[in-house]
Amino acid sequence: MKDKTTRLYPLDRIRNIGIIAHIDAGKTTTTERILFYTGKTYKLGNIDEGTTITDWMAQEKERGITIVSAAVTTFWKAKSGPYKDTDTRINIIDTPGHVDFTAEVERSLRVLDGGVTVLDAEEGVQSQSETVWRQADKYKVPRICFINKMDKLGADYFATLKSIRDKLNAPAVPYNLPIGTENDFKGVVDLLSQKAYVWETGVDGTGKEFKEVDIPHDMKADVEKYRNELIEKIAETDDTLIEKYLGGETIEIDELKKALRGAVIKYKIVPVMAGSSLRNKGVQPLLDAIVEYLPSPKDIEKVEGENPKTKEKETRKLVTEEPYCGLAFKIQVDPHVGKLTFVRVYSGTLKSGSSVTNTTKSKKERIGRILLMHANTREEIQEAYAGEIIAIVGLKSTATGDTLCDDQHPLILESITFPDPVISLAIEPETKSDQEKLGYALGRLAEEDPTFKIKGDPETGQTIISGMGELHLEIIVDRMKREFSVNAQVGRPQVAYRETIKKEANGEGKYIRQSGGRGQYGHCFLKVEPKPRGEGYEFVSTIKGGAIPSEFIPSIEKGVIEKLDQGILAGYPLVDMKVTVYDGSFHEVDSSDIAFKIAGSMAVEDAAKNAQLTLLEPIMKCEVTVPEDFMGDVIGDLSSKRAQVHGTDHHGNSVIVNALVPLAEMSGYVTTLRSMTQGRGSVYLEPSHYEEVPTNIADKIISKVKGEKSES
Ligand code: GDP
Repeated sequence: MKDKTTRLYPLDRIRNIGIIAHIDAGKTTTTERILFYTGKTYKLGNIDEGTTITDWMAQEKERGITIVSAAVTTFWKAKSGPYKDTDTRINIIDTPGHVDFTAEVERSLRVLDGGVTVLDAEEGVQSQSETVWRQADKYKVPRICFINKMDKLGADYFATLKSIRDKLNAPAVPYNLPIGTENDFKGVVDLLSQKAYVWETGVDGTGKEFKEVDIPHDMKADVEKYRNELIEKIAETDDTLIEKYLGGETIEIDELKKALRGAVIKYKIVPVMAGSSLRNKGVQPLLDAIVEYLPSPKDIEKVEGENPKTKEKETRKLVTEEPYCGLAFKIQVDPHVGKLTFVRVYSGTLKSGSSVTNTTKSKKERIGRILLMHANTREEIQEAYAGEIIAIVGLKSTATGDTLCDDQHPLILESITFPDPVISLAIEPETKSDQEKLGYALGRLAEEDPTFKIKGDPETGQTIISGMGELHLEIIVDRMKREFSVNAQVGRPQVAYRETIKKEANGEGKYIRQSGGRGQYGHCFLKVEPKPRGEGYEFVSTIKGGAIPSEFIPSIEKGVIEKLDQGILAGYPLVDMKVTVYDGSFHEVDSSDIAFKIAGSMAVEDAAKNAQLTLLEPIMKCEVTVPEDFMGDVIGDLSSKRAQVHGTDHHGNSVIVNALVPLAEMSGYVTTLRSMTQGRGSVYLEPSHYEEVPTNIADKIISKVKGEKSES
């Protein structure tokens, strides 16, 4: 379909990509080098000095980790392929690299079309790379692997390649090979063109160009072997090419490249490339490969959603001729322009000054200014077209995951789901003015981060915030103090337990007041049954023949939900159960919504108390990396923390201990590990699932909660 708009960058010259990596693999450095070579930044920053471009926030700089996703637009002229010497617009969606934020990674994956997985050439595939890889599989994101840090001591391209194949089960095929390793790493050999490129050594703040050289003698055999493998793998994915290949005919490079592009997009091949971002080597070929092989929105073709009126599935082609639809995937507060809503435009054209519908919230939104975010500048644009990623200033009710559409053509795109928080802490503002600022600050922060939740505790008057891990909450508290100057006392992080039932039981709730004035009458019987872990709550009514008039059933459910939220055993929400109302009675005059609500709440409490209530606790997936010598100590310590140690992986001189461990046992673990391993261990934690708390421990938790309640 021909584009009728005046867009400068046709669909096939747009790449929406994410750079996905384990913390410390070099995502920030690689992103920054990409921005440097694409000409939008003029000074090379160094992550160790905290001057990089994608690490926007002061705090990220201090910690050296990237927390939030920002989208940056940049342009690159590929040196070969069909887009040779024409600008391709590359939108880089920043995926967070820290484990506490895998939900954020997931959110970014939803809106990108292709990814570059950065791996540390010494470490190979690390725990989080595996997690993120599986998430990317879920969204079928085509990928290129960039084996970074080829200059580092212990760097091993082929061992890393093997770990990509073994651990990620990925169809990884070398696309270029490193020339030299460690200190001797000089450049790469491009297998298809059989050309060798070397970069000058050293980082001195200026970008280094590369030059073509002869393939080193000692690499010739490897180049031939891996080139044949690459060609064979490409040919296997294409019927015409396989015939040529088997018939011994030569296949032109252009044909191979075209077929490789198709294979990468269908996730049949993952090209593997070598480089060292820090030493400015191998980044330009990576950029060429992004343009040549990663999909454009045109390759993705369409997006599916639900028409909110008809509830039917509908699709939109990713072209400007379709009605506008887009997904808000990130809210960020920019110090200069205020609240920015990052939107992936899937179809149609979005015009500044126009009105659109937020179909998720059924609300109209006025589009104020539309911005294109470059590495260090913002550009105001009048229109954004299908396939693009932009930021909108001034949206009022749009949150992460909401769909924004043309008023006349409503559609709801699949939203982004985030796991429930597993840890919480109490905040108490110091003064009255802090109290006021606190609400505003937390509201702002929650707007940016959908994995972070705020709740008031009606009994203590405290504010409870919850999130995905200790570090997550630490960062939020830090931002609250620093960016919003709120002075507050912060409690210790508390594990977010839940309650559930273990067997089926019945209960009755009767709320009758008939002395004086207008009476109250609500009465119901209900049954509670356990549901499988993670399936949540379900409410059914089987009442027939008018034991309770149908208008009161929703009131019973309201009472049930309220009770389940409050908890019965120790004040934690009850989950994974089905509640069935099956009988009851009513009074012609005295029955009311409120009476049935109270009866519902009483009945569910009665039933649950008969249904073997128990506590559930979050179990974390835990991977501890330590030098071999410390393995015994670490495993011993984990075992004393109720961990189930699943096994160990050896990688060079390090061992990775894999375990599942209750979050409750892991508070302050980073410090413990540090002192146990002379600072040489690191830990990776992420929520896995909820499990029943052993009875003796549950009893302690319950009596502690009850003790605190009676004190206050
Ligand atoms: P991120 O956590 O994935 O964003 O990783 P960073 O880009 O912050 O890099 C982590 C550390 O690795 C920093 O100290 C970088 O200087 C270093 N680093 C990044 N790329 C390379 C590389 O190519 N070679 C070497 N030796 N170190 C690198």
